Amino acid sequence: MKLATISTSGGNRVVAVRDDKFIDLCAADPGLPPSLKELLALDTGFVRSRSAAEKGFTAGKFISGKLLAPVQRPDKVICIGLNYRDHAAESGMEPPPEPVVFSKFSQTVIGPEDSIRLPPVCHQVDYEAELVVVIGRRGKRIPRTEAANYVAGYMNGNDVSARDWQLQKPGKQWLLGKTPDTFAPTGPWLVTADEVPNSGNLSVKLRLNGETMQNSTTRELIFAVDELIAYVSQIVTLEPGDLIFTGTPPGVGMARKPPVFLKAGDVCEVEIAGLGVLKNPVVVD
Ligand code: ZN
Repeated sequence: MKLATISTSGGNRVVAVRDDKFIDLCAADPGLPPSLKELLALDTGFVRSRSAAEKGFTAGKFISGKLLAPVQRPDKVICIGLNYRDHAAESGMEPPPEPVVFSKFSQTVIGPEDSIRLPPVCHQVDYEAELVVVIGRRGKRIPRTEAANYVAGYMNGNDVSARDWQLQKPGKQWLLGKTPDTFAPTGPWLVTADEVPNSGNLSVKLRLNGETMQNSTTRELIFAVDELIAYVSQIVTLEPGDLIFTGTPPGVGMARKPPVFLKAGDVCEVEIAGLGVLKNPVVVD
């Protein structure tokens, strides 16, 4: 099942997506909450969503609207650095012995077709195609063997990064380099975990203005999704709707010779197998 959030003249709606058609889940089952984060928090959320979607598709009752970020204002946007063997090599770094974890504020999260806005003070802004895990259940100290039960699904993400702030400021301003508003495009929808049988075997691509810049696979992940959930939840309680950006493969603009950085008028597309295409134009803020 593909779940998305759309904006309509009547407000935001959580929808099931099939063949580019949207079913308003609340219309089919008025007891369902109008936000994906709340729906994930319901124990019966997916079961009821499935039956509401079937009912809606059978009846042909479709709704139209603009796709937004699937999870609006997640409580946490957790990111993993240097998590691909081939990207660590490209960066001239040793693969880390434990996951490298950082974060973005929730204002970074935007949806498909929304603009990545370049702050005038950032001059070296880069793209990073990433598999994003959406957490479906509250949990702390989750054993690796149970981690899969906490995954609601997956989506495309772009961990947009201002390298000049991340790496060249005194003390390295990772937070400010990673967290300018709009620097976490996600979507176009969440694909539920049952439709992604192996998150460790998905092609990951990023195109910049139609040219393929990143082309790898999650087989290169140093720490798999279940390890990341176990590792982070030792310290942090994970909540429904939390996002984990799992790291990026090689081909980032910073590592190219000459380097490539985003400029107004560019278009980024992230495409992970089975998750659709996440497309975002770039503008100056
Ligand atoms: Zn990243």
